[in-house]
Amino acid sequence: MPDLAGLGVSPGLAAGPVMRMAGPPALPAPQEAAAEAWMADPKAEANAQRAAVAEALAAVALELNERAEKAEGPAREVLEAQAMMAEDPMLLEGAQAHAAQGLDAAHALQAAFDEHRQAFLAAGGYIAERVADLDDLRHRAIAHVLGLPMPGIPAPGHPFVLVAEDLSPADTATLGPDVLAIVTEQGGPTSHTAILARSKGLPAIVACAGARDLPDSALVAIDGTTGTVTRLETAEQAAEVNERQRSETARLSASTGPGRTADGHPVELLLNIGSAQDLVKDAEGVGLFRTEFLFLGRRTEPTFDEQADAYAEVFKAAPKVVVRTLDAGTDKPLPFLDLPEENNPALGIRGLRVDRVRPAVLDTQLAAIAEAARRTGAAPWVMAPMVATRQEAAAFAERARGHGIGRVGVMIEVPAAALMADELLEEVDFLSIGTNDLSQYAFAADRQHPGLADLLDPWQPALLRLVRLCAEAGLRAGKPVGVCGEAAGDARLAPVLVGLGVTSLSMAAVRVPAVREALKALTLAECQRLL
Ligand code: PEP
Ligand code: MG
Repeated sequence: MPDLAGLGVSPGLAAGPVMRMAGPPALPAPQEAAAEAWMADPKAEANAQRAAVAEALAAVALELNERAEKAEGPAREVLEAQAMMAEDPMLLEGAQAHAAQGLDAAHALQAAFDEHRQAFLAAGGYIAERVADLDDLRHRAIAHVLGLPMPGIPAPGHPFVLVAEDLSPADTATLGPDVLAIVTEQGGPTSHTAILARSKGLPAIVACAGARDLPDSALVAIDGTTGTVTRLETAEQAAEVNERQRSETARLSASTGPGRTADGHPVELLLNIGSAQDLVKDAEGVGLFRTEFLFLGRRTEPTFDEQADAYAEVFKAAPKVVVRTLDAGTDKPLPFLDLPEENNPALGIRGLRVDRVRPAVLDTQLAAIAEAARRTGAAPWVMAPMVATRQEAAAFAERARGHGIGRVGVMIEVPAAALMADELLEEVDFLSIGTNDLSQYAFAADRQHPGLADLLDPWQPALLRLVRLCAEAGLRAGKPVGVCGEAAGDARLAPVLVGLGVTSLSMAAVRVPAVREALKALTLAECQRLL
């Protein structure tokens, strides 16, 4: 029986002693001496505190930038993004305004960070998930002002399971080889902890209630697939868990070849990528190229040339690529679109619906995809996110074909679209089921909500019935229907999806070997019987 349960966000087993992350620096009561200095010469004291605020933020940004230079891949990007937050002039101005009103530097920083925090939380979605990054910056800046050691990862000199409230990008990027697994009390499936743990192949569990009460040095086993933490009695038990993981890793690292069931039924194994950097050789192509990841946070619209270059880089490197047109909104804000504030952004102008207010954006993108295809000789498949009706599918197909795109599809992320799968397939060449959003909309459950994991569980029968509607429509029409949500990378669920009639599975690179091996172990008839 597990002792604690959370959301498993990076698969794998690990066991070892718990080490908890050092807490944030304690903020002392405002200094008496500062009050005296303020009485003696308010202007000079305010200037001194303003300078201390600026110095602290600059020092923190410098340190993060230095670490970013030494890091690679996603770690580098998140450190750079966090350094940019520290360089935000609004933050500096806010803290200096508090200092000018008589707060010492540490309290002025605290007040300004609190204001920023409120604004992040109010924005919701992806922005709200960046609160952990902001809190980390605050702790660092305040520790700098107070001359305290920077908060960070423990270094006990032996392997350990890292337990934390939440991890900042700076923490995650500096994880040493001693970290066996990560368990956090906070965080969602798209938090930095989850993203970076997956990229490092470390088992991780987020939203794990009670994790903070695990005592230091307690022996635990972590299962990043099921999201469970189990207390162990002996070092032998821990060694046994780690040995099981070692042999599983060895088995999976030997796994190669195309996706097939035991009786040779082909199931394409594809990658979900955000840029060419996520490509690996161990797959049959790309099933979901999330093009918006190239432009997250951008204030200016990416130009035609910029887009064509980025797409061509991927087309050159992968044999088959399914490009998704920009999926902006809620969890993936694209500031350059300057979309109006909405009360309920997940139900508002997002995905293909952005075309209703910014039609030129889709045309530029489709033209850039066609140009990249021309330059590289590739024949990309192109699909639209968040399609709800046959009319939307038909209009998108016409636009894409008008730009010379040969294979046009739509994502199934809205239950209404799944119910109309037959009709959609009269308009387009393929469907790709985005189970992350399909769960969110079928169960009316925010996909980032750590408290609703049971509703977002891809084993929910209602979700599987929606998948079946689409897969059966695909079989009737003789057209491919893939799954590209997180469910596709679940090695236990993948055979069930294949049994339902799904023709391809697209997932993060680290999940490919386990899914491949799971399919190899069963015939198609056995996959069908699993249902
Ligand atoms: C999905 O919704 O399942 C999907 C694959 O798209 P994203 O996660 O990028 O919204
Ligand atoms: Mg989606």
